Amino acid sequence: MGLAAEREPKRSPHRCDCGQAFDVCYLDDRRDPSRDGDPVTVDVSCPGCGRSRTFTVPIGAERTVTVEASESEHEDLVDEGGGG
Ligand SMILES: [Zn+2]
Repeated sequence: MGLAAEREPKRSPHRCDCGQAFDVCYLDDRRDPSRDGDPVTVDVSCPGCGRSRTFTVPIGAERTVTVEASESEHEDLVDEGGGG
């Protein structure tokens, strides 16, 4: 791991029709943003209802897209995943 600078993923906040707020995160892999190509569309699934939504990201970033549910005002955290 010789990368000097950590790249911080870009986050785009969205809200689904179901009310679930989530962030679409992606890494902008473009070396020369000024020479970038056309944006591409990706399909992301709402973490709340699973509905597929179309999102536009810079070309090359579509491979790094992740969806993170925005932290809601729930007080009790739900532990997800992990061993059973
Ligand atoms: Zn939804």
